[in-house]
Order: sequence, then C-alpha cells, then structure tokens
Amino acid sequence: MCYAIAGPPSGTHTTPLLPAINLGHSGGTLNVDCRRTADNLQQQLPNAWHVLVKEPFVLAGDCSTEQLARYHQETIAPTSLALSIQYFDAHPTWPVAIILCSSDQAYRECNRSLGERERSDYAGIYSRSEHRVIVNVATGEGTLAHELTHALAHVDFPELPEWLDEGLASLHEECEFSADGIRLIGLQNWRAASLKAAIQRGTLQSIVDLAGSRFAKADAAVDYAHSRYFCLYLQQRNLLEPFYRKCRSNSKTDHGGITSLTQLMGTDDLRKIDAQFSAWLRTLKAD
Ligand SMILES: [Zn+2]
Repeated sequence: MCYAIAGPPSGTHTTPLLPAINLGHSGGTLNVDCRRTADNLQQQLPNAWHVLVKEPFVLAGDCSTEQLARYHQETIAPTSLALSIQYFDAHPTWPVAIILCSSDQAYRECNRSLGERERSDYAGIYSRSEHRVIVNVATGEGTLAHELTHALAHVDFPELPEWLDEGLASLHEECEFSADGIRLIGLQNWRAASLKAAIQRGTLQSIVDLAGSRFAKADAAVDYAHSRYFCLYLQQRNLLEPFYRKCRSNSKTDHGGITSLTQLMGTDDLRKIDAQFSAWLRTLKAD
C-alpha cells in the first residue's frame, strides 16, 4: 500500500491543454480486463456512482461520466504522458482503477464499499494488489498525481525502493508542466515545514537511514518530506531522471538505490552527499 498523508490542500497540479492520449495497449486482453474491472466496480460502488473506461484506466466516482472524462483528459492523460517521457518505459498491461471521491464522506463510503479499512488519516491510497487508486479529490488534484505516480511506477519498476517511490509521488503533489507540456516539474510545498523542524532539532537522518525507512508508520511525515525534497534537490541538478533509470538498471544488486546515488554523484562519501543536500536546503526560501 502507498499513502499520501493528508495535509493542506495540495493545489497547483496545473495541466496544459493537450488532446486526450491513450497510453495503454489497445484491444486484446487489456480491453477485456478493463471492462471486467468496470463491471466489478459498478457492482461494488453505490448505485449512483459512475464508471468510465479509458484504457488502460478504469475511472469511477460520485460524479458524472462527463466529469470523469474531464479528469482523464485534463489531468490523468497528460500526467501519464509526462511520467512516461521522464521515467516510465513500461506501459500498463493491466487495468489501473482510479476512483475519484468528491468529499470526505464519499471517500469513506468508497473505502467501505470496496472492503478497505478506515483510512480517514489519508487523502489517497494506491493498492498494489488491486492495482487501484482511491483519491479524495477535495484535498486537491495533487493527491491524484501522487497516487497516479505510484500506480504507474508499480508497472514500470515493481522493486522501486520505497523512499524513492514516496519521494517521486510526493514531488508530484505540487508540480507544474514544463512550457512544452511534456515534463512535470516539482515545486516546493507544505512538507518543507516538518523537514526544517527536523533540521532545527538536529534529528534529520542520513540518506542511508532514509533509504532503510518504512513509511507505513504514524510518524513518517519527516521521511516523506525528506524523500520529497531529496527528489526536488536531484531534479534541480537535472539528476532525478538519470537517478531513477540507474536505480532501475541496478535493481538486482542495489536494493535501496544508494549505490546508484554514489555512482551518479561521483563520490562514495555519503556524508558529503548529506552535507551537500543540507546546504542546498538552507538556500531554500521559507514558504
Ligand atoms: Zn505515497
């Protein structure tokens, strides 16, 4: 399971005007599987909810079919395209269900209907076993971008280290498209506050310890912030995309991504990498 921790609205996931793009494999088994997933969701979700197939995605929600199509065209398709250009070479060969809930109440109702346990602390969830995203879109479209990143990363790199999975997903909570509309550029967001507090306390852990962290715990807020801002740091040095690909290439031997990081940074001195990251953090303007 991968979670987006609920926080202030994760607002500016702005989208360019692009034509609807189908990233999946057309026809064949995937199409049949999408229809089956759609039928199952229609049976499980409340009667008034709608379902729409946009292969490889199966959208559902407590909104109209037209609104679902708009979410696909304006957010899901362009975000997926950018992610496939920047990071993900493999396209989904299974249906990716995306359920959009318009309120806290609808979000709780959805989780109940699908047999998920209460997750009121979270704004969204991606279930690896179900290939299913559930998002409370009242928290902002950034939550959708977070969980969509998890869903597509799962297709491309199933062994992606958890810290990089969460860092990449969290980076896209607050992002904008490049001028040509084909790249996502992460921006600063509300997670900086917990990171700066950890630095002031002198409790910020090393990148090696972060790579070994488990994120499914109550006090993971600093880990999320650390991962996100480390990705932002790499992005600003034009190293994030090569780092992701290097981690994927080295995945059989480099389980946490640290060897890939030292290769990319041109040093085996991890204390130096931590120091450079901390120095960069101090240059950031306060939000
Ligand atoms: Zn997550």
